[in-house]
Amino acid sequence: LKPHPEGRSLRAEVHLGRIARNLDRIRSASGGREIWGVVKANAYGHGAVPVGRALEEAGVHGLAVSNLEEGLELRQGGIECPILVLGGLRPEALPAASAEALTIAVVGPEHLADYARILPQHPVRLHLKLDTGMGRFGLLPSELGDCLPDLRRLGAWIEGVMGHFATADDPDQGFAHRQRRIFDACLAQLADAGIHPAQRHHGNSDACLRGLLDQDTHLRPGLALFGLTTIPEGHALGLEPALELVAEVARVKAMPAGATVGYGRTFVAPHPLQIATLACGYADGYRRDLGNRAMVGFQGRTFPVVGRVSMDYLTVALPLDVPIAPGDPMVLYSADPSAPHGLERLAQTLGTIPYELTCALHRRITRRFF
Ligand code: PLP
Repeated sequence: LKPHPEGRSLRAEVHLGRIARNLDRIRSASGGREIWGVVKANAYGHGAVPVGRALEEAGVHGLAVSNLEEGLELRQGGIECPILVLGGLRPEALPAASAEALTIAVVGPEHLADYARILPQHPVRLHLKLDTGMGRFGLLPSELGDCLPDLRRLGAWIEGVMGHFATADDPDQGFAHRQRRIFDACLAQLADAGIHPAQRHHGNSDACLRGLLDQDTHLRPGLALFGLTTIPEGHALGLEPALELVAEVARVKAMPAGATVGYGRTFVAPHPLQIATLACGYADGYRRDLGNRAMVGFQGRTFPVVGRVSMDYLTVALPLDVPIAPGDPMVLYSADPSAPHGLERLAQTLGTIPYELTCALHRRITRRFF
């Protein structure tokens, strides 16, 4: 499905200059460390290829994605910098990764022997993932000893060692420090075995903001690049949210007191008012449970989303004296973090995190880049 420029009236406006400036802010806050910009899940919904190109132009070291397909999408989009596939790769897919010069995270001990067999013909750079406490991907410290012979055979290709914090957003940094100590012990064990990768990275956005970088050479931020954060240190850095979700008004109608709106009639007009219908619904990623809870922006003011959000539409109530017509733009997600329809505040309303809201933005939404 290819968006037509004159087609749907719903667009995500993505300001690439802000993403480049956020990269600079993060780089400075991390003492100038090199950055792997995390652009998985379509760059957290922002648009992987344009965001990747902007980061590449702004001097990012490389881009990190979740899987092979996302890496290939970036290469097909003309991106030339290193691309790290965080979720690992089955050995059968190594030739495809090698052909596109993708860098692969090794996420467990199970494929090491196959990798050692295949890499001489299909070389790829590897980053060895260690499970220091996330409990998801990575070699456990207890597995490392048995893996050393295979790792030595792979040594020439192992460019980096990585971990991932489970609690970098938690003010109590006890567990993060424990993960760091485990990481350091594993690095020492690798060094004793003659494996000295050039890169070490354990940190995401919050690890940078909370100063948890220690001896890392590189950093892997995602959310902060998009100007979003869930911790106060992020606001102190002056991050600029990069995305606004804008919908043009499709229909406006005046309603008498007592009229009801939408499925289930969950909104009853308390007095005469206008209802603006916007072509944005839960199929676009606008959460159904924002009905009767969220605000949207219009000409410097905010107005409530009323009634249930349906698959393709939502409805907004405005006083009768507000001039509004079909085609007028309304802002569903604001780039102002303090606005009630800023992504962080909407996520709080829903008891979730802003990641979930941006990642959910459907590919059918037109993305415009500035
Ligand atoms: N590294 C890994 C392995 C991840 O899974 C993620 C995101 O989920 C990141 C880095 C980036 O995290 P954040 O967006 O919190 O900076």
